[in-house]
Amino acid sequence: MIFNAFLENIAPYNAGRPVDEVVRDFGVLPEDIIRLASNENPYGCSQKVIESIKKYAKNISLYPDDSMGKLKELLAKTYGLSAQNFIIGAGSDQIIEFCLRIKCNASSRVLMAKTTFAMYEIYAKQTGAKIIKTSGKLHDLKEFEESYKEHGADVIFLCLPNNPLGECLDFVEVYEFLTSIDHKTLVVLDGAYQEYAAFKDKNKSIDCKKLVLDFSNVIVLKTFSKAYGLGGLRIGYGIAQDDLIAKLHKIRPPFNVGSLSLEAAYWALKDEEFIQKSVEDNFTFMRDYEDFAHSHQMDFIPSYANFITLFCDNKTLNSTEICEKLLQKGVLVRDLVSYGLNALRITIGTKEQNLKVFSLLQANLS
Ligand SMILES: *Cc1c(COP(=O)(O)O)cnc(C)c1O
Repeated sequence: MIFNAFLENIAPYNAGRPVDEVVRDFGVLPEDIIRLASNENPYGCSQKVIESIKKYAKNISLYPDDSMGKLKELLAKTYGLSAQNFIIGAGSDQIIEFCLRIKCNASSRVLMAKTTFAMYEIYAKQTGAKIIKTSGKLHDLKEFEESYKEHGADVIFLCLPNNPLGECLDFVEVYEFLTSIDHKTLVVLDGAYQEYAAFKDKNKSIDCKKLVLDFSNVIVLKTFSKAYGLGGLRIGYGIAQDDLIAKLHKIRPPFNVGSLSLEAAYWALKDEEFIQKSVEDNFTFMRDYEDFAHSHQMDFIPSYANFITLFCDNKTLNSTEICEKLLQKGVLVRDLVSYGLNALRITIGTKEQNLKVFSLLQANLS
């Protein structure tokens, strides 16, 4: 059979080893598995969410409200915008896909950082677009500007903070950069970890309202999968001017987000205390990882997200081997070998989970 030729260049996303397999292959009890490979919230989600889902369960025979008005109104209030400035997706992943589909075809170009979220490239390639990457290790707006001048781009992705390295550009620099971009180019600002970054340093906080007021070609993406702890419910959203949102809605399938997800997201957004506590603990325990890295001569980049990436080069260690050793003990972390890096990306866990990581790492570093 002959398939779409675009598929030839696409390496499927690697979502890591399924927990069931780890249980089966290494005899680890399911309750002893420590999941620090996907940047999920180690504290779960708000209790308000759990209660709302229980109450809502009796309605699941009904299709969701496709207008998603209840959640959009709350988002509008939260951001000081209106409901027409929001599109809700099955994870912000789905909005990434929509953004590429409204802009790209086989003659398009998509610009992104060398090491960034893998789905930008995968969805871009599905449209046949050509990928252009900056060459520096981290996001560098000078490089983005030069590359944009040289090659042009239909879509530009900035990941703020960046997964998988954790660095984050200042909002003022990003704003300045946006003023240099033609309004024909769509700029996607992926804020999947914004709750963390904004807490650590106000300068990293994306001012969504200002962007919506000033730019017709910019969209900010947010997700409920990370700080809000709703990864299993697949819900995220995009914030932009209403014309851009209306274009995205043209390719959104009906009922793309389930009713339980919409209900859960509504209550998750209302529980600010839960987010505050999760984010605070994240940076408290991140310091333990930084101390560990220092005392073991492992390099890292200061992270503005809920993970830290530790480089293994210094001691001629091999990240794949270390990952495998941790996996055998039921601890899942992300090997960055597929990004061409000899590094581990570890989600900051609970205090107990982190201690387990340190003791296993210690045993494998010596
Ligand atoms: C996790 C993540 C997303 C998307 O997550 P969803 O679960 O699809 O909402 C988007 N961007 C980055 C950088 C991420 O790390």
